[in-house]
Amino acid sequence: MSEPMFLQPVFKETIWGGNKLKSIYGYDIPSETTGEAWSVSAHPNGDCDIISGSFKGEKLSKVYAEHRELFGGYAKDVFPLLIKIIDAKSDLSIQVHPDDEYAGKNENGSLGKMECWYILDCEKDTKIIVGHNASSKEELRKMIEEKRWGDLIREIPIKPGDFFQIVPGTVHAIKGGTLILETQQNSDITYRLYDYDRLQNGKPRELHIEKSIDVVNCPHEDHLAENAIEKEEGASKVTRLISCKYYEVRKLDVDGSLTTGNLKPFSIYSILKGEGTVNGTPVKLGDHFILTSDIEKAEFKGNMMIITSRPV
Ligand code: ZN
Repeated sequence: MSEPMFLQPVFKETIWGGNKLKSIYGYDIPSETTGEAWSVSAHPNGDCDIISGSFKGEKLSKVYAEHRELFGGYAKDVFPLLIKIIDAKSDLSIQVHPDDEYAGKNENGSLGKMECWYILDCEKDTKIIVGHNASSKEELRKMIEEKRWGDLIREIPIKPGDFFQIVPGTVHAIKGGTLILETQQNSDITYRLYDYDRLQNGKPRELHIEKSIDVVNCPHEDHLAENAIEKEEGASKVTRLISCKYYEVRKLDVDGSLTTGNLKPFSIYSILKGEGTVNGTPVKLGDHFILTSDIEKAEFKGNMMIITSRPV
């Protein structure tokens, strides 16, 4: 494909979701409690339709399986990444993800989950949960058994533009009033550690305490954003947010024009502010597309903030 491959997000209704996916991005969401837009996904629980070009109407998973040359011949059987916009109107449960090894052994060969968050918007004085205060597994177990959640859970203040890398084994949660773009390994394996003792239909949601204790990193270690400026072109710039063994994530600020290489094996782009063109094709806020591996460069014009990722 010489043109961008646009994708239709798959929406997920959740008890903690809101309506910002409609009010900000104009998506046709199913209800006023829509928590997630799986914007670029080939996961069986939410496989995006391609809505442009010669593969229009097909699922991303099918095109990935049958036309691997468009994805640089990427070696993994499963599409490697999953991009979501998450609108948390109320607090999400506190969770932790396993790594590939633990998930492979304990979750039917599933992948583990590395993920990262770019804070698109948040209410004033909002905090986020990243990490915990136990110095060892023994202390972690004790604090959980004694229900000392306030002492255990580590909350940090956030503002729009902040970025967090959540490695497997990191205790994490988004609180109400937060809108994020998440880039993650293509996995849905989550262990719920604590749910604020809330009830859903009169019952608490299931927790996974033993598996959580198995996988939580003790002590917690922060993985900071790189925020490395890689290119400046007039008022436009490319900032690398993170590179790890699964993905690289960059922020593109386009003010006028910006030309970058389309990184191999292929790159995913999400327009998160403004509008303009990419290689001459109009794009606007809320669009998500892939530039396949046959496309050598991405020439942006307009005024936009874009998050782009590529699998490693
Ligand atoms: Zn997570």
